[in-house]
Amino acid sequence: MDAYDVLVVGAGPAGSTAARYAAKSGCRTLLIEKRAEIGVPVRCGEGIAKGWLKEIGITPSPKFVLHEVQGARVHAPDGTCLTVDSAHAGNEVGYTVDRGLFDRHLAAEAARAGVEIRIKTGAVGLLHKDGRVAGAACEHMGRTYDVHADVVIGADGFESQVGRWAGLETLLPAKDIEACLEYTMVGVGGDPRYDDLYLGSCAPGGYAWVFWKGEDVANVGLGVNLSRVRDRADARLYLDRFLAAHPDLGRGQVLQEIAGAVSVSTPLERTVTAGLMLAGDAARMIDPLTGGGIVNGCLAARIAGEVAGEAVAASDFGAAFLNRYERRWRERLEDDLYRNYLIKERLLGLDDERISRIVRALEDAGLREVSAAAVLEALRRKHPELLAEFDPR
Ligand code: FAD
Repeated sequence: MDAYDVLVVGAGPAGSTAARYAAKSGCRTLLIEKRAEIGVPVRCGEGIAKGWLKEIGITPSPKFVLHEVQGARVHAPDGTCLTVDSAHAGNEVGYTVDRGLFDRHLAAEAARAGVEIRIKTGAVGLLHKDGRVAGAACEHMGRTYDVHADVVIGADGFESQVGRWAGLETLLPAKDIEACLEYTMVGVGGDPRYDDLYLGSCAPGGYAWVFWKGEDVANVGLGVNLSRVRDRADARLYLDRFLAAHPDLGRGQVLQEIAGAVSVSTPLERTVTAGLMLAGDAARMIDPLTGGGIVNGCLAARIAGEVAGEAVAASDFGAAFLNRYERRWRERLEDDLYRNYLIKERLLGLDDERISRIVRALEDAGLREVSAAAVLEALRRKHPELLAEFDPR
């Protein structure tokens, strides 16, 4: 019989991090990934902040970091440009990584900590025992078998099924989903010292980005809010229009096209049930303002792995015990997630003229940090007349 202390479903950044910390806590841990190769296909702009890797015990390395930027330029529809250094530019600005290599590095570190990894192995349902989740039915090359585990960690991404199988509410309304399309392009012109973020009707309810991977290589993409377009396919119209409006970018050649969705919601109401914790995109932990999900997913996953270790040591897998995961990750991340969600809701209602006015005001106020608190403080100080447009309270 396949039996483990901890089963982690999904070997994205969150799953590999959760599995590594569970193994480091002494748990016999299995990490399963339905795909044939971890990290492929990439569905990401590949931008991450610099300051947080230490918190999940990872050292930045040329093995996965392709490029480092000094900061970000936020472009308003009227051409106003606000420059912010990378330490203050949010979850996606600092390093551009090769996501395939990054994900495999995290999985390799998990393996080195003692995690057993099975690729081409998908969870197809949950097992229950004594009223709690107690493992998963898994499928490998047409064969289905049971894996028993005292704790299951669902890290199965945006399209998560594990949460739904466990009875957690995971549905999202259209206004909380961004449809994203991105081209990896070569031969593009611009200043690779800064990532570029473009706000306004070029990407309704979202933004367009240029994340540099090298001197003339960049991920050029955008996200559009599903409540503001006819359907997901519209992302292509907007991206092609954006490239036509920026000839330095548009002259590049497309090496790769990536489509995907991100949640721009509040996190799930509950991320724990007896025997189960959810982490990363599966728990809707993506920053609703920036769409960056790697940082938050990994930070919460570390906590999930540690709590799994504590649960195994205490032989207590009930919801009351696992709720310490809920409490700890919310203490670390929830304030920012909620505040950024409210600001995202406000931005959804603003037209180009008002977005430009706000960016001009922030530039005028000398804003140097992309955080909800800093934006509100800058407006309060210099342009209180604009606060009503923007303050979520
Ligand atoms: P995932 O990376 O989605 O990993 C989930 C894993 O679970 C996958 O490998 C999947 O195959 C596996 N899986 C699913 N179901 C099962 C199953 N039943 N059994 C076994 N395995 C299963 N974030 C950033 O921080 N920076 C960015 O620049 C950025 N750009 C983005 C651009 C685009 C176009 C998109 C779509 C997203 C972007 N994001 C970005 C978001 C980021 O990609 C996600 O937040 C991140 O991948 C979440 O990690 P995760 O481990 O939670 O989930």
